Amino acid sequence: MEVRKDLKFLRQKSEPVLEIDGSIRDLVDQMVDVIDLERGAGLAAPQVGVLKRLVLVRFEDNEIVPFINPIILERGSEKDIVEEGCLSLPDQLVNVKRPTYVRVRFLDIEGNTIECDLEGLEARIIQHEIDHLNGTLIIDYISLVDKIKKIFN
Ligand SMILES: [Zn+2]
Repeated sequence: MEVRKDLKFLRQKSEPVLEIDGSIRDLVDQMVDVIDLERGAGLAAPQVGVLKRLVLVRFEDNEIVPFINPIILERGSEKDIVEEGCLSLPDQLVNVKRPTYVRVRFLDIEGNTIECDLEGLEARIIQHEIDHLNGTLIIDYISLVDKIKKIFN
């Protein structure tokens, strides 16, 4: 399984997972292999060519957790700016401003509905991955000032 880098594909919106069947469980296993191989902090299904609302997040204790049909229920008012990379855009690092806290609802691999609070790095990763499900990429956060700097460099 390879990480997709073609922007036209990555710009598409992903569809909800309707049933957590064997094909979804296989997909999760394959994505875990990819994230381990690439040493990624997170991975979204469209990055491996599947337009389904499924992402993986690597937690700070190194555990890789699948989030199926993730929805952000709440965002904290505090934001910070951190430089992010993306396995699909290997040559880009972009400063991205995001809330430092989010509350997320998702299905786990058994189909249980879970709500959890994420902060710091984990909050950032899940927001980056959910962006992928909507066809949004880190390059969309490049400020006009940085774009102009790039042109004149
Ligand atoms: Zn990414």
